[in-house]
Amino acid sequence: MEYTIAFSYLIASLLFIYGLRCLTHPETARRGMHAAELGMLLAIVGTLLHHEIVSYEYIIAGFIIGGAIGALMSHWVPMTALPQRTALSHAFGALAASLVGIAEYYTHHGHLGGFKITAISLEVLLGSLTTTGSLIAAAKLQGMLPGAPMTFKGQNLFNLTLIVVTVGLFGYLIFNPATGWAFYLMMALAFVFGVMLVLPIGSADMPVVMALLNSYAGLAAAATGFAISNNVLIIAGTLDGFSGFILSIVMCKAMNRSITNVLFGAFGSPAADAGGSAEGEMREVILDDVATQMAYARQVVFVPGYGMATAQAQHVVRELCDSLEERGVTVKFAIHPVAGRMPGHMNVLLAEANVPYSQLYELEQINSDFPNTDVSVVIGANDVVNPDARDNPGSPIAGMPILEVDRSKTVIVLKRGKGKGFSGIENPLFFKPNTGMLYGDAKESLAKLVHAVKEA
Ligand code: NAP
Repeated sequence: MEYTIAFSYLIASLLFIYGLRCLTHPETARRGMHAAELGMLLAIVGTLLHHEIVSYEYIIAGFIIGGAIGALMSHWVPMTALPQRTALSHAFGALAASLVGIAEYYTHHGHLGGFKITAISLEVLLGSLTTTGSLIAAAKLQGMLPGAPMTFKGQNLFNLTLIVVTVGLFGYLIFNPATGWAFYLMMALAFVFGVMLVLPIGSADMPVVMALLNSYAGLAAAATGFAISNNVLIIAGTLDGFSGFILSIVMCKAMNRSITNVLFGAFGSPAADAGGSAEGEMREVILDDVATQMAYARQVVFVPGYGMATAQAQHVVRELCDSLEERGVTVKFAIHPVAGRMPGHMNVLLAEANVPYSQLYELEQINSDFPNTDVSVVIGANDVVNPDARDNPGSPIAGMPILEVDRSKTVIVLKRGKGKGFSGIENPLFFKPNTGMLYGDAKESLAKLVHAVKEA
């Protein structure tokens, strides 16, 4: 039986690695997810064969209740609420890791060797702070807590003291494992630290924080693996931990922010020079004129953003794309790495609408093509096309790489009104002479454009 378990863990680990590899490209991502799902199934089956399992009743009950909640959530939670749903999953995953650690400690009354107590303490520390941190992140993203950074005087000092005491207790436990009060105090402080860590971070940065919390949850799982001598947990937790960490760095780079600035910078507070060169009038355009411009263009580039996700306009944009192509127009999609509210948000939506991957262009590929573009259609994007990031060093988003739509011949912006982007700052693009504003819900405007392009 031991060989069967070890073999299932080995295959599961290989499938996880293969799955991650496939996730590096949208074309193979689906296959990667299926491989990882199969890997997880094998890991669960292998674990259920373990001789240490004494009762299957609780496991079956947990499986049914948890599975039902998961299935219902996946049906009910809208695509736009995925970030907060993911945050909740992290919270529960981390709580599970924490509880395993607490149970191990409690069962052995702290009589553990140096290696085991280190693994268990690390698991409980990371698991506990990830639980409360993820719950606060979910509440902020859902609007149950203010999205703006919640700060107070001396907060960084308070947090620093908290972490020094918590890490101090962790160190103390390694040499005095049977000191119960130190273990439970460390756990309680880690719960508090999770709250304090996320409260001062604005919801614009929440996806980065979640990638980081995901990484902590992974490392907590890896520590659990060491604590209960489970190889697949060590491998899966390490993969999760480091891929989460790499993801948070990639996202920070795409926003030109450092990880310390995200964690301690209180981004989201209004800045002095947030408006840049946003002066003058926004020019409203008529839908039929836009349709004619697009129908007779050589090249049209669609630039989707968060507004396309909220409007669920991905299918209708595909229809418009087809109509234009039938007329011989070259159509491309420009994808910014942090457009929307989670990594790959636009790719997921456009894939759902069967937009071919060959039509999706990344920032580095498309920027030099904007001067050759007759019409750039911005669909509910704002921050990712804000020229202030490039032109105004005083802007809070200065240095963030943008899609340079302002360099195309004409820009049409589809948005409902004068609402700001997630960073809360004004966008000078909307005031440029070559920009026209087409107000209205993106899905409705696009549906009318499909009709008008056919008539043009
Ligand atoms: P954005 O800057 O948040 O702007 C979205 C725009 O969509 C708003 O200005 C809004 O204007 C418009 N809109 C909303 N609902 C709409 C609807 N139904 N129809 C038409 N327009 C609608 O979006 P973005 O350009 O995609 O930028 C993403 C932001 O999130 C960046 O600041 C980025 O740094 C941040 N972020 C993203 C990630 C990630 O992983 N993707 C991670 C961290 C941070 P109206 O209200 O006027 O309609």
